[in-house]
Amino acid sequence: MMQPNIDMLYDLAGVGVGPFNMSLAVLLTKIPNINSVFFDKKPKFIWHEGMLLPEAHLQVSFLKDLVTLVDPTNPYSFLAFLAKEKRLYQFLIADFAHVYRGEFNQYLTWVSSSLPNLHFNDAVIDIDFVKDKFIIQTENKKIASKHIVLGSGIQPNIPLWAQTKLGTKCFHNHSLMYQQHDWHNKRVVVIGGGQSGAEIMQTLLADKTNLPSELSWISSRRQFLPLDDSPFVNEYFIPSYMEKFHSSSRNFRDENLLEQKLASDGISMHLLKSIYQRIYKLIHIDGADIEINLLPDHEVTDLVGHSIGFETVFKNLSLNTIRHLNVDIVILCTGYRSAIPDYLDKIKHRIAINDAQYIVNRDYSIAWDGPAKNAIYVQNAARHSHGIADPNLSLMALRSATIINSLVGNKFYDIENEKSAINWQQVYPEYVNEDIAYVE
Ligand SMILES: Cc1cc2nc3c(=O)[nH]c(=O)nc-3n(C[C@H](O)[C@H](O)[C@H](O)COP(=O)(O)OP(=O)(O)OC[C@H]3O[C@@H](n4cnc5c(N)ncnc54)[C@H](O)[C@@H]3O)c2cc1C
Repeated sequence: MMQPNIDMLYDLAGVGVGPFNMSLAVLLTKIPNINSVFFDKKPKFIWHEGMLLPEAHLQVSFLKDLVTLVDPTNPYSFLAFLAKEKRLYQFLIADFAHVYRGEFNQYLTWVSSSLPNLHFNDAVIDIDFVKDKFIIQTENKKIASKHIVLGSGIQPNIPLWAQTKLGTKCFHNHSLMYQQHDWHNKRVVVIGGGQSGAEIMQTLLADKTNLPSELSWISSRRQFLPLDDSPFVNEYFIPSYMEKFHSSSRNFRDENLLEQKLASDGISMHLLKSIYQRIYKLIHIDGADIEINLLPDHEVTDLVGHSIGFETVFKNLSLNTIRHLNVDIVILCTGYRSAIPDYLDKIKHRIAINDAQYIVNRDYSIAWDGPAKNAIYVQNAARHSHGIADPNLSLMALRSATIINSLVGNKFYDIENEKSAINWQQVYPEYVNEDIAYVE
């Protein structure tokens, strides 16, 4: 790995080396004369380590890797990884409906060790803008760059009632694999009915020798609902829909995001089935010593800590009745939230922030009052402006290519006019995007 040059003015400096900035870094390798550097605080790449569960699968096609959807011949595709590992034929024969997250992590880890400009173990602690450049202070060095790209991810969402209770017995699912767990004879509650909650349920039910005595699964959704993975709904994850979405009114976008929730936040159908079958087998065939309470349509309102555990207070949303449940372990599968990172403190006052969100232009640069020739690009911070695909792998390569085209000022990557079954231009009315109008 090359050490970053502290005397050089980089074209682009990136914060974070998750899949999104890694996709950008890979697609940048084809661009001559662009000097880029990326920093990550982790000692080495690992993809959502605390949720790298043995049975977890990708929720999208493996073709939605770092590069393929904009540059199918790129040497850093998932298929290129399999070919390098000499397991392409076996992969084909295995005929996985869904690739293991563990295997996708292997692929990402390989890419992370192949690029010389990705620097781990070096957190960005501060970014300033001085005269005509960004000054990026990491734990180990200070560098300068014309543009920056923020790819430091999103944060676990901890409900207010849990914030003072966090510890080894009450934790967010993102840290599940950081410690060994003994569930035996414990009363466990899993709070949250999305994909993470379901993956945790699957994990808790997997080992017959380490089953909780009582396992409750609480969700405020009416049911444990599947991911809507149907063909026309999947057009929300293609470029022309994203373009239409971005040029729509704020109200339209907000309403659509609510309506489309299950297209991104539902539970994979095969996982729902596997949990259902596992419960059936444990109860009816194995006669396992476990009590399972499935509680959709309930919302946790409080968590009271006791010397020997917690009292979960929750409400039946249809009956409006309050219930109580005593448990030993609480697992919060309560999602993730965006936050303006602390490392932006020095320039935050120069950035336009609306309802705690950036105002994101079509090319993923954000509105700020600095010179137009110095851009701040964002990854995974544009769901409100670019649609439900934004936090997902689906448009990752397209977003990277869009940022690159903006950076170099030409259409290096040919990403226009991708076909769709639905003519999105015709379907929805045209608006002037008032957020963008605000920027101008
Ligand atoms: C458990 C899980 C499973 C998912 N599975 C899928 C899936 O199957 N399909 C799909 O489409 N999407 C999936 N997603 C959504 C999305 O694809 C991933 O969250 C993806 O990892 C997002 O990439 P990212 O680069 O934005 O963020 P992250 O992967 O979170 O990476 C951000 C990086 O920034 C670093 N960082 C943070 N602060 C700093 C700092 N100050 N300085 C330096 N580095 C910093 C972190 O160490 C981290 O490595 C999943 C999400 C989760 C949480």
